[in-house]
Amino acid sequence: MIISLSEVCMTPGEVKSLECPLELENLKFNGNSYKITNKPPMHLNITALSKTSVSIKGNADYTINIPCSRCLEDVACEVNCDIDLEYDLNGSYDEEMAYIEGNSLNTDSLIAEELMLNLPDKVLCMEDCAGLCPVCGKNLNRSKCDCDTFVPDPRMAAIQDIFKNFKEV
Ligand SMILES: [Zn+2]
Ligand SMILES: [Zn+2]
Repeated sequence: MIISLSEVCMTPGEVKSLECPLELENLKFNGNSYKITNKPPMHLNITALSKTSVSIKGNADYTINIPCSRCLEDVACEVNCDIDLEYDLNGSYDEEMAYIEGNSLNTDSLIAEELMLNLPDKVLCMEDCAGLCPVCGKNLNRSKCDCDTFVPDPRMAAIQDIFKNFKEV
C-alpha cells in the first residue's frame, strides 16, 4: 500500500487509521527467502503532527517459515512487527528509510524492514533436534542411518580439549 504522507499532513492533528494488508509473499533476507504464511492486516495509525511531520504507528504478528538451524526443516515462527516512527517531510533524506520515496510511504517495505530486524537468530524445530547426518544428510529426527559418524572431527577434538582443561581446573 502506498500512502501519500504530504496528503496526511494537510490537516495537522488528524489521525488516519487504516487496515494495511501485507502483499509480500516472501521475506528476502541475507540471500534467503522465507515464506510468510500468516499475515493479518496491520492496523496503522498515521498522525499529522504538523504540516510537515507525521508519526506512524502499528503492530501485528506475522508467521514466517524459517528453516531449523540443525535439520533445515521449516519452522513456523511468530515474528512481531512493531512500527513506531516519526518522519519529517522537510528533513534530510535518510538512505536507510527505503520505504519512503518522495513523501510516499510504502507499507510493504516498512513492514518487511521491521520484520527483518526481528527475525530470530537461531531457530530449532525442537530443543533436542538431532539434525542432519554429516555423512549421508539424512534427517536424524525421522530415521537413523548406518553411517559411521565417529570420524574424529577437528572441531570436536577442540571441544574435547576444552572439557579436559575444565577437569584440570
Ligand atoms: Zn530441526
Ligand atoms: Zn548417515
